[in-house]
Amino acid sequence: MLTGMQIAVIGGDARQLEIIRKLTELDAKLSLIGFEQLDHAFTGAVKEKLDEVDFTNIDAIILPVPGTNLEGQVETIFSNEKVYLYEETLMQTPPHCTVYSGISNSYLNGITKKANRRLVQLFERDDVAIYNSIPTVEGTIMMAIQHTDFTIHGSNIIVLGLGRVGMSVARTLDALGANVKVGARKSEHIARITEMGLAPFQLNELENCVKDVDICINTIPHLIVTASVISKMPAHTLIIDLASKPGGTDFRYAEKRGIKALLAPGLPGIVAPKTAGQILANVLSRVLKDDLEQRKGKVT
Ligand code: NAP
Repeated sequence: MLTGMQIAVIGGDARQLEIIRKLTELDAKLSLIGFEQLDHAFTGAVKEKLDEVDFTNIDAIILPVPGTNLEGQVETIFSNEKVYLYEETLMQTPPHCTVYSGISNSYLNGITKKANRRLVQLFERDDVAIYNSIPTVEGTIMMAIQHTDFTIHGSNIIVLGLGRVGMSVARTLDALGANVKVGARKSEHIARITEMGLAPFQLNELENCVKDVDICINTIPHLIVTASVISKMPAHTLIIDLASKPGGTDFRYAEKRGIKALLAPGLPGIVAPKTAGQILANVLSRVLKDDLEQRKGKVT
């Protein structure tokens, strides 16, 4: 249980509602900032404006997945008012107060560092990345179906990268009957791809592997699907780039060659916001419990 914990939830989309539901179930006290237009009420959660919250009692601040923008603004889908998180607000919190977000940027890193408050980026955690790969794969399949006129079954698919997303994508497409080749640079990844019964290749061989590719799925956040690689693909190839912005594809060249290339960020929040929220809520509630127990241990 999170009894006695005071948490400020600032902004967010449908995913945040799952977090609010879970934390109130666990008996935490929540201040909801940027939720005026949300019809639903949660027992144990109070809708407040940022300047109404007593931050001297706040044990944790939960931001939406993107954190803040570079000016400190927090995305608030359920409010018309702009909400900003400033260093001064963090300075009012007790020293143990921790800020949780999905990802961070130079602004959020900067204010948490200056205020000397701990920042936890949930998307850096292996468990979150692996759970999130499930809705990511489903979103990838949706895009492949929407943007092709052939079945996944029997098509030649290249997956680039055998990280948390790449492994889930490759395994699922193989199960759907595609001929899956996976490109990686580490010998242990080549070994794992072989063990999975898929066709491995070294990334520096990519250019030589694309002549019959129907769908190319990139998960590597570096330019990997270069103009030179695209020039060797058949005209009907669909490129789905899952890597974080700006992706790993030369989109300008793909467009010039008439090859459809799609950057597809944030698929879990698009195709399965409830599940994506539950993934964050489950991990967050465990992390908050650990923090609370650690703090209690220090006090006693
Ligand atoms: P990950 O586990 O770190 O995997 C990244 C893969 O890229 C690894 O196989 C890594 O191989 C490879 N890689 C990285 N830099 C490379 C380089 N310079 N050259 C060759 N290979 C390189 O990350 P992930 O969790 O799978 O996520 C992959 C990407 O998808 C990230 O950008 C993430 O933000 C994004 N993502 C997108 C969505 C979406 O909805 N589109 C959802 C979740 C994640 P090595 O081990 O050899 O470095």
